[in-house]
Amino acid sequence: MTLYLAGVRLPVRHTSMRAVDLIRKKRDSGEHSREEIDFLISGYTRGEIPDYQMSAWLMATWIRGLSGVEIASLTEAMLHSGEVITFPELPAKKVDKHSTGGVGDKTSLILAPIVAAGGLKVPMISGRGLGHTGGTLDKLESIPGFNTALSLQEFRSVLAKCGTALIGQTAEIAPADKKIYALRDVTSTVENVGLICASIMSKKMAEGIDALVLDVKTGSGAFMQKEEDSVRLAELMVETARRMGKKAVALITDMDQPLGRFAGHSNEVIESIEVLRGRGAADLRDLSIELSAWMFYLGERTKSVEEGRTLAGKLVASGEALEKFKQGIALQGGDAGVIGNYELLPQAKNRKEVSSPSDGYLAATNCMQFGIALAMLGGGREKKEDSIDFGVGLEFHKRIGDRVTANETLVTIHYNSDARLADAISLIENSFVFTDQPAPPKKLVRRLVGA
Ligand code: URA
Repeated sequence: MTLYLAGVRLPVRHTSMRAVDLIRKKRDSGEHSREEIDFLISGYTRGEIPDYQMSAWLMATWIRGLSGVEIASLTEAMLHSGEVITFPELPAKKVDKHSTGGVGDKTSLILAPIVAAGGLKVPMISGRGLGHTGGTLDKLESIPGFNTALSLQEFRSVLAKCGTALIGQTAEIAPADKKIYALRDVTSTVENVGLICASIMSKKMAEGIDALVLDVKTGSGAFMQKEEDSVRLAELMVETARRMGKKAVALITDMDQPLGRFAGHSNEVIESIEVLRGRGAADLRDLSIELSAWMFYLGERTKSVEEGRTLAGKLVASGEALEKFKQGIALQGGDAGVIGNYELLPQAKNRKEVSSPSDGYLAATNCMQFGIALAMLGGGREKKEDSIDFGVGLEFHKRIGDRVTANETLVTIHYNSDARLADAISLIENSFVFTDQPAPPKKLVRRLVGA
């Protein structure tokens, strides 16, 4: 039996259960009961199950998989590891977006202010970098002073004043995901549909939202590289949201190449500001507008997605969305001067160009390798305690379908230390595929799930 008090699952002591037996059960392809999953999640969150046992269970789970029933139990156990917030004081609809992660994916920084400027509330609980992908929290922390660890009371206050507030999982909200996410990041246990669904939905369902837009990436830079796996993940998440009484839709979007022109923390903040100024890369701008449009529609701010697109475009053109971003930075303790002066953001000291070996057309990229190269240069974590060098980054000069001539620059590396520069260059050089004929351009939004 599961007991709740004020929406919080009460810790239940399962005296006869042992983590070691549950690891063996999953290793041997067994199916866990709800009580067993509760035991693992509550025990790990309370610090009674150590990292090494949780790591072993995660790896067994990664290899053996989780059934639909286990995924539902895991999502609920992780959700109820902390509080489920509500905002009775805020009458406006609350909506959010979550991406499954990619390289250069910075749309949260752009759409949160757009949607808040349009009158909806965006209470966003995000994550840090995971595997080869960058994290919204880390990107925002490249802004000097920006505090992503607001208390629940501060989170409410910023949301009420600004219409958007952005924090990470805390000891109060989704604490199980906070710990498990950091462990998965460094134990190669990210790319599993059940673990991703539980991680994302336990955060998102704790936020007190009415509706959720999911950006499920597919392709060589996504956790789910095959489109059918992305669709399965999208269906699972949409179904979970609806079971919990929330509106939800998922867009399956392209991650066969980086989104926008830049990857790396300061660089991505700059690129986001550029899009909010009405400039920036077309794919990033288009996807940010599309996701905002769905948020407006599901949040009942507009009668159609088309109307949502028009509204999002107007809020960018009028400067209201940029103003909202500025206000949000200041309210979360950040230096809002970065909006007008990019030099206030940490910058890498050195530049190195990676050039094309021959003439041809860019046909494909191994996009995940770009994320790994960035982490090697200090722009990601390889151990839980690693800190991030916000200034390092990659600037991409070519898109799939572009003509390339021999020695033309493909990527500019922004770096500080050359300790692993040669390895990073080699990864990047080997991540491009050229052909003699132009490849068809990639469709940004491949499919809709639950629309
Ligand atoms: N984003 C999350 O929040 N969790 C995952 O597991 C993957 C992407």
